[in-house]
Amino acid sequence: MKQLFYTLSLVFLLGSLAAQPVTKVLFIGIDGVRSDALRQANTPNMDSLAAGGTFTFSSWHLRTTMSGPSWSAMLTGVWEEKHGVTNNNYSNPNWTEYPYFVTRAKEFRPDIKAVQITSWDPMSSQVTNDGWDQKVVLGEDNDCVAAGVSLLANDTALDVLFVHIDDVDATGHANGFNPLYATYINAIEYADVQVGQLMTALKSRPNFNNESWVVMLTTDHGGLGNGHGGVTREEREIWWIGWSNLGALPKQELIVDLGSLDPLDYIFPNANDFDEAPLLVDICVTAIDHLLPNVDPDTVTRWDLDGKSWLNKTTGINNITVNVTGGNIFPNPTNGTFTLSMQHVKHDISYRLFDLDGRAITSGSVPFTADKVDVQLDLRKEPAGVYLLEVTHNGISMVNRVVKN
Ligand SMILES: [Zn+2]
Repeated sequence: MKQLFYTLSLVFLLGSLAAQPVTKVLFIGIDGVRSDALRQANTPNMDSLAAGGTFTFSSWHLRTTMSGPSWSAMLTGVWEEKHGVTNNNYSNPNWTEYPYFVTRAKEFRPDIKAVQITSWDPMSSQVTNDGWDQKVVLGEDNDCVAAGVSLLANDTALDVLFVHIDDVDATGHANGFNPLYATYINAIEYADVQVGQLMTALKSRPNFNNESWVVMLTTDHGGLGNGHGGVTREEREIWWIGWSNLGALPKQELIVDLGSLDPLDYIFPNANDFDEAPLLVDICVTAIDHLLPNVDPDTVTRWDLDGKSWLNKTTGINNITVNVTGGNIFPNPTNGTFTLSMQHVKHDISYRLFDLDGRAITSGSVPFTADKVDVQLDLRKEPAGVYLLEVTHNGISMVNRVVKN
């Protein structure tokens, strides 16, 4: 009987191990999308990912806003002082010490299958030690997206896919990076259609519900006039969206109050001063963190990463992540009253409820006493519509949309 018990225990143990979903990453990089233009464009696919995940319209690029240095920072998780790429020729890179995130992840998961697809050849031909099993270079964005769709739908072994979409940047160079220009907005809206195609393919995977996907979308820089490479807000303030199918990323908008610090006051800001803010280099670290559930990227000191992970960790792995655990709002939509519920609370919480015109409806604070906080809120006297609930915890604010019927 004892023997049987041990055998059964082992079977259960193996069963529970086998049930851990494999972690995977889809990274869609859309070149040259200004944050303010993305807000204005009609992008239902990206909106849907943002509404179901973590996003920010205020992430920062702190170095050279050209494509080569920018993609290199994003994919290595370090700024150009380390990866060495300061122009689009990729001269003097240091891929040996600062490789792409795939190479890092393969130190612990050597069997990862990773593919990059781009129409911009330098990102393929000028980069080594990048960890990709396949580097696909095709002529146009539509070809790249079609190849991505095919891989996502059919390749069950695929673990990491990076699809680069380039035409928004090309449109900006040709006609202007400007949210007032229809050409620029149309290009962003077309990229959103392509995002929708990739997401449809991802969700069609035969084993999708048993795979733990993090989907990340971001841009490498904005633009001003017909170019980029400078230090203006239009070039430097970027955005990103992270979405997961099995809860790796909470629902929240990241708005970090930097106080008197403003990256626009500096040509090359001291990156350490902006640790709290969403940054270009966070993308890589978030990807590693998801691909390696048992490895905290911060503790692998030889990697010397500049970015941080935005995953919803509850084990205190990263210095910020734990503090931004999103509030849950229910019911939402509401007929009047609703509850804001927060977990993993470690500090006092304050909240403010606004309408879309910015009119304050109510505000309050909850002193820290327990790691779970429920706040009852009331919109019964307000008209039907959309409201914004800003919640601040440890200096980091999240804005949640609340719909009153
Ligand atoms: Zn670019």
